[in-house]
Amino acid sequence: MIEIKVDTESCVGCGLCVKDCPMKVYELKDGISTPVRPNDCMGCLSCHEICPAQALEHKGIYAAKRHYIDIRVCEMLKKVI
Ligand code: SF4
Ligand code: SF4
Repeated sequence: MIEIKVDTESCVGCGLCVKDCPMKVYELKDGISTPVRPNDCMGCLSCHEICPAQALEHKGIYAAKRHYIDIRVCEMLKKVI
């Protein structure tokens, strides 16, 4: 399971992670990004890359990233089979 931590001191509330996350994991609450659906995270790390404040940390990402890659491979295979 992925654990998402937001460094509330660093987060500038730009909302980029909220817009970018394909799984809608985040919402802005009082101007701070808050992972409201952390269990939906599939470990793509897109939010991590886009955050200008480097305020996001994910733990347990390896297992989740494998799951994400497996889903993508299955989707590709479905198109060619
Ligand atoms: S790693 Fe991907 S799915 Fe998870 S919170 Fe970040 S953008 Fe969303
Ligand atoms: S992208 Fe980073 S700085 Fe911007 S709202 Fe998300 S966590 Fe905060």
